[in-house]
Amino acid sequence: MEFIVLSKKREEIIDITKEVRAAVKKLYVEYKKKICNKDIAACLVYVPHTTCAIIINENYDSDVHVDILEHLGKMVPVGIGKHAEGNSDAHIKSSLLGQNQVIPIENGELQLGRWQGIALAEFDGPRERKVIVKIL
Ligand code: ZN
Repeated sequence: MEFIVLSKKREEIIDITKEVRAAVKKLYVEYKKKICNKDIAACLVYVPHTTCAIIINENYDSDVHVDILEHLGKMVPVGIGKHAEGNSDAHIKSSLLGQNQVIPIENGELQLGRWQGIALAEFDGPRERKVIVKIL
């Protein structure tokens, strides 16, 4: 199952917890009905892209996302690198954070902590991003 995220800025963190939760609920029902009555252990949330990432972190205070972008920007500034496209910083930030997360599932529910949310971290937007959700 997949869904599309449209980023609006070059760098932004977009909460996708609601979309992932809805995808997992749908996949969980299909899996139980058609494949196996055993409980599902986890889900994979993955982006098939090289300049964005999937992260799990606090989604309650939006300043957390602001701080993540600001300090990643200090570690890996825009304009560095040899890559001809000029977006080396975005490739490096994507590699540092990773293109996927695995989240445990219990009775069809994501086992996220009270303050945790799933987000797509964009480093080379605005772009259309595909997010793939698979049951494991
Ligand atoms: Zn590039």
